[in-house]
Amino acid sequence: MMIVMKAGATEEQIRTVVERVESVGARAHLSRGEEVTVIGAVGDREHVARLGLEGHPGVEQVVPILKPYKLSSAQLRHGERSVLDIGGRLVGGDHFALIAGPCTVETRDQTLTTARAVRDAGASLFRGGAYKPRTSPYSFQGLGQEGLRLLAEAKEETGLPIVTELMDARDLEPVLEVADVIQVGARNMQNYALLSEIGRSGCPVLIKRGLSSTLEELLMAAEYVLKEGNESVILCERGIRTFETAYRFTLDLMAIPVLKQMTHLPVVVDPSHAAGRRDLVGPLSLAAAAVGADGIIVEVHPAPEEAICDGPQALPADEFAAYADQVQRAAALAGKELSAV
Ligand code: PEP
Ligand code: MN
Repeated sequence: MMIVMKAGATEEQIRTVVERVESVGARAHLSRGEEVTVIGAVGDREHVARLGLEGHPGVEQVVPILKPYKLSSAQLRHGERSVLDIGGRLVGGDHFALIAGPCTVETRDQTLTTARAVRDAGASLFRGGAYKPRTSPYSFQGLGQEGLRLLAEAKEETGLPIVTELMDARDLEPVLEVADVIQVGARNMQNYALLSEIGRSGCPVLIKRGLSSTLEELLMAAEYVLKEGNESVILCERGIRTFETAYRFTLDLMAIPVLKQMTHLPVVVDPSHAAGRRDLVGPLSLAAAAVGADGIIVEVHPAPEEAICDGPQALPADEFAAYADQVQRAAALAGKELSAV
């Protein structure tokens, strides 16, 4: 249920509604818009309905949310978009976030060179994996804590907020020390224990769509974070499995406008993992920006041919400025401005 408060509702009235919702064992999620406050009541619908909140002072209306995803639903915010502030960079609404960096942190030089190049070209955030979800257990698994240390150094030097993946809740503490956004990989999208743990941490999270997941399943993953009171969720379309074998995954660009109808959360696109090939990254990025994505997360490497991981899809660092310029223009077509400080 969604309890929409009147524009002039007092704090006291809001608090009383929250208390009444909680008195029947439901959870109350407060969402304060510019004009109105909406209280999402998650729990037994019958119990909440019996409270008769319609007549309560300060309550405008009580609307049932029929979808299985509630806190992420566009309905909850009355169509208003969520805008997140990640270290001063805005994500969502009219803002376009360019998230760039290597697939994985390999060396100090590789990390810092890439970070400087993407910062100079106007990137909003820096990405890089210290813990890598590799298909083969025999492949390089990431530098772990040493990788986190290098990311901290890149942040210190460039000022760029860090996006890095967490695969195992046991690594949460060290990851929280450096991450401004925790990435949940496509293969972990349905790791509900991990999502809940990140939800409780309060750290912003970027959730990648699973290789074979529906948009509803993606939103249900977001729900696990949101239900812990963590409202900072970014969704990411990164390509799905289809019958097509000519490329690695099929980038589902239709997901962008459709997700925007379904949810108030920002939606970004990862053209690198979808394509698996550098030559497709440019065109897919332009298409994603033009179709209204709230940002792009893209892989960049100073010497892609030497990369330990995902080299064939990485953009060379010295070509990133030209790429960023083009992407920025496509984003402008969709009415968005690059998010920087
Ligand atoms: C990555 O971003 O490096 C990655 C492994 O992505 P995905 O989880 O989408 O495969
Ligand atoms: Mn990668």
